[in-house]
Amino acid sequence: MPHHTAAKLLKPLIARLLLPLAVAASLGLFFTGRARGLDLELLVSGSAVCILLVAMLLERWLPFAGHWNQSQHDSGTDLFSAAVLLALLDPLLKYLSPLVVVALYQWLDLSGLYSKVLGQAPFALQLLLVTLMLEFCRYWVHRWHHSQQWLWLLHAMHHSSQRLYALNNFRFHPLNYLLLFMLSTLPLMLLGVPAELLLGYLALTLPVVMLQHANIDLRSGVLNYLFSTNELHRWHHSANAAEANCNYGHALIIWDQLFGTFKYQPGGSNLPTTVGLFSSSSQNYPVTASYLAQLRLMYGLRCC
Ligand SMILES: [Zn+2]
Ligand SMILES: [Zn+2]
Repeated sequence: MPHHTAAKLLKPLIARLLLPLAVAASLGLFFTGRARGLDLELLVSGSAVCILLVAMLLERWLPFAGHWNQSQHDSGTDLFSAAVLLALLDPLLKYLSPLVVVALYQWLDLSGLYSKVLGQAPFALQLLLVTLMLEFCRYWVHRWHHSQQWLWLLHAMHHSSQRLYALNNFRFHPLNYLLLFMLSTLPLMLLGVPAELLLGYLALTLPVVMLQHANIDLRSGVLNYLFSTNELHRWHHSANAAEANCNYGHALIIWDQLFGTFKYQPGGSNLPTTVGLFSSSSQNYPVTASYLAQLRLMYGLRCC
C-alpha cells in the first residue's frame, strides 16, 4: 500500500480513536497495576507523559491549525511554566498536603466520614463518585475564576496564549493551580478519600487533560458529550468573552451540560474567530512576555 494511502486511511482513525484509546490504556494500566500491587503513581504519571509525547508528535502529522505549530516566542514561557508546576509545585503539594490535612484535624476531624459512607462500595463505584465530586468542585472553581475579578487576575495567564498546543496546557499561574488544588483535592483528602482513588481519578482524567490543548484535528464524536475534549476547549479559549464563558469542565463536560454552559457544534470545526485573552480583560499580556513578567502582571493592574 502506498505511503500516502496508508496515511489517508490512518488519519481519520486516529482522529476518532486517540482519545478513547488513551483513556482506555491509562485506566487499563491503572487497574492492572492495582491488581498486581505495582506503583500506581508511577504508572499513572508514566502513561500521562507518554500520551503528552504522542500528542506532541501528532501535532506535526495531523494538525488542527498549521499556524498553531509555529512558535510565537511563547514556547519558553510555556516550558518554564510546565517545569514550575510539575517539578516544583506538584512535589510540594504531594508532601505538604498530608501534613496540612493532619494539622487541620485538630479543628475538624472528618477523616472517618468517607469510609463510613462509601468505604464498603465497589471500587469502580467509589471511583465514579469521587470523579464526579472532584469534577464538580473543579467546574465551579474554574467558573468563579471567570466571574470574580480577583480570581480572573490569576486565571488570565492561562488565557493569554494566542494559539493552542499541547504544552500550553501547563500555562497556569501557580496561585491559580494552588487554589484549584485547595478547593478540590484537599477537601476530599480531609474527608479521608484514599490516595488510591485520587490516583484512579488521575488515571481517568489525565489522558483527557493531556490532549485538551493539543493542536490535533481530533474528532471525538459522542465523547464530546462526556469529556472536555480539545474540540470543546477551543471555545473556552476564544478571545470573545461571550464565547469563552463556557466548557469549564476540567476533564468531564457533564457539569457544563447540567449547569447550562456546554458549547459544541457537532460536525463543525469548533473554532472561535480568535483565540486569546478577552478584549474586555483589564490585563495586557504581551505574547512574548517572559514567565516571570507574566506572573508579575497580575500585581500591576490598572483598572479597566
Ligand atoms: Zn478558563
Ligand atoms: Zn485551557
